[in-house]
Amino acid sequence: MTEQSGGSVNATFGSVAAPVMATAEAVDGAFGPVRVGALEPFHLHPFAHVLHYASTCFEGVKAHRGPDGVVRLFRPDRHVARMRRTAARMSLPVPSEDLLMGMIRDVVVANLDAVPPAPGALYVRPLLFGTEPNIGAAASPSGTAMLAVLASPVGDYFAGGVRPLTLLLETDLPRTTPQFGEVKAGANYAMALGLTLHARQELGCDQVLFAPGGVVQETGAANFLLLAEDRIVTPPLDSTFLHGVTRDSVLTLARDRGLAVEERPVPVAELLAWSAEAALSGTAATLSGVGALLHRDERHVIGSGEVGPVTLGLRDGLMAVQRGEAEDVHGWTVPVTA
Ligand code: PLP
Repeated sequence: MTEQSGGSVNATFGSVAAPVMATAEAVDGAFGPVRVGALEPFHLHPFAHVLHYASTCFEGVKAHRGPDGVVRLFRPDRHVARMRRTAARMSLPVPSEDLLMGMIRDVVVANLDAVPPAPGALYVRPLLFGTEPNIGAAASPSGTAMLAVLASPVGDYFAGGVRPLTLLLETDLPRTTPQFGEVKAGANYAMALGLTLHARQELGCDQVLFAPGGVVQETGAANFLLLAEDRIVTPPLDSTFLHGVTRDSVLTLARDRGLAVEERPVPVAELLAWSAEAALSGTAATLSGVGALLHRDERHVIGSGEVGPVTLGLRDGLMAVQRGEAEDVHGWTVPVTA
């Protein structure tokens, strides 16, 4: 159940609602005025397009409070750009950069008191869905839409803090249809849910790593990387998986540190033979070490089976930039003040 903020960041990720939201409604592709106010339920017609034809998409971007007290958004421009690409792919009205960026800032400013100190953060959730009341509109886009920006004070995404994750390696089924993997459509998550639940509840895994046809793509909510002292190997960007902002940030930090970055297809055979480290990257997951893979009922331990030093070093480096503790040489953070 969702609590109002004031709840602990030890609560399940995303279950605590910050008190203020922003909304803007679109009619015929044009967004009206932004309303910033208390979090409240949406009034939806039962015929609303989203309820029948899944015309919904979202983003996830974090604001971090540094030891200097300053709250900084991490690469919000990238998230805004991805939301716009997703909206277009979903045949939903595309908010302008200025509109969406303004709403994100408004929500962080209005919820500044709800931004927890590190290692917590304020997870900001832009959301867009079709509201046109027409159950005959399966083959036409929603003429009206709701854009909302919500927020949630969060702690660790994976319960238990820094610990090695176990992934179910799925080599038959894809996470979603290939041409939609690169966008953040709500339906992608619904399609992966059954298998993810099976992996978690019946097999004791944390997530599913999708590698249809024996080639690695990503997990249900994070990108996948192989790491060693001198290099990182990760699948090259294509339409089958989400182009993670964290993935890009980690690869950039790795290059800065002199590691070679290989963006190339990763066959399952190479993955199972990898003797160093593996990790998941994502706004929610940050950089989380993977200790083992479950494949065809066999458990394959990766390297030492622990969260490795390369993963921890890059994770610390990323978090230091996010919190304003390390120099932001790439201009990734955006301070937000009232
Ligand atoms: N892949 C999927 C399916 C995700 O849901 C996410 C999380 O947003 C990611 C990858 C990582 O993307 P990012 O680093 O931009 O959060």
